[in-house]
Amino acid sequence: MKYKKYVARGVLFSLLLGAAVLSSPAFAAAGEVNLYSSRQPFLMQPLLAAFTKKTGIKVNMAYLEKGMLERLKAEGRNSPADLILVSDIGNLHNHDKAGLLQPVSSATLSTNIPPQYRHPAGHWFGLTVRARVIYASKTRVKPGEVTTYEDLADPKMKGRVCIRSGKHVYNISLLASIIVAKGADAATQWASGVKANLARKPQGNDRAQVKAVYEGECDVAVGNTYYMGKMATNQKDPIQKDWAKSVNIIFPNQNDRGTHVNVSGAGVVKNAKNKANAIRLIEFLSGTAAQKIYAEMNFEYPVKAGVPLHPIVAAWGDFKADKAFLSKIATARTQATKLVDLVNFNN
Ligand code: FE
Repeated sequence: MKYKKYVARGVLFSLLLGAAVLSSPAFAAAGEVNLYSSRQPFLMQPLLAAFTKKTGIKVNMAYLEKGMLERLKAEGRNSPADLILVSDIGNLHNHDKAGLLQPVSSATLSTNIPPQYRHPAGHWFGLTVRARVIYASKTRVKPGEVTTYEDLADPKMKGRVCIRSGKHVYNISLLASIIVAKGADAATQWASGVKANLARKPQGNDRAQVKAVYEGECDVAVGNTYYMGKMATNQKDPIQKDWAKSVNIIFPNQNDRGTHVNVSGAGVVKNAKNKANAIRLIEFLSGTAAQKIYAEMNFEYPVKAGVPLHPIVAAWGDFKADKAFLSKIATARTQATKLVDLVNFNN
């Protein structure tokens, strides 16, 4: 008798659950995940399609080139976003500082992503790695003449250096890495030394610096590695192939701390309604299949060990990366931003 009652209750519960699946938006949303991405659709589409094919989870992606942080803040608890995908630890850190991300613990992510490339409490995870290198004129920079970031601040480089705005996230992170390695005073001296060597006021994006070397305006420039792959293979704007051909990539500081590297990465939004699916997506993006797609499509370094590089990237050769934890560099960014103003870098 008791047993029968139990079964009947079970059936009733199942029926209620069935009704709930049909009517409740919370249940209807199962099998979905909502992504805010500042990474471009051309790159994300094949990755997300592979994820959906494997898991059956539908990904709704909003491509937000700018303004993601402001939008998430404005939406607050009602934000539909479950996870974010952005470039640079600066952007990851700024979302975290604003309290928009939540801790995640995942054995898969801990295995796939080396600890220096993720937040210690799982607030964000690096998914692709890029190095911030020196592009040096093949004809005007002698072998061995420039081997370190410090060389960019050396008087021998007077009037020969090009770089984008000192306030750009990429350069703030580079300066923050110098603060971590050598302290704020040394970083300030470095920034004012580079400023004194500039061929022109900071302007343009990373590719524009290579163009300036190609056109003879400067001899060395600073930029991220993947742009070299994008320029070298550019069919839409073939002149960029010539820009790329005009420079060598120098991985700075190979005899000491190593080259500054940064990541693009992901974090789970604080009030994510599809948290489990968001974690599954990040796990998928850190896995071998997705890491290969990133490497092939965007000339980035896989964050996961053992995934092959794009042949163009492999041809740049091995390099030693700065081992400093990106979480530590991220916290030095506030100070780096102040230093850029202090030395009046952009003017
Ligand atoms: Fe970029």
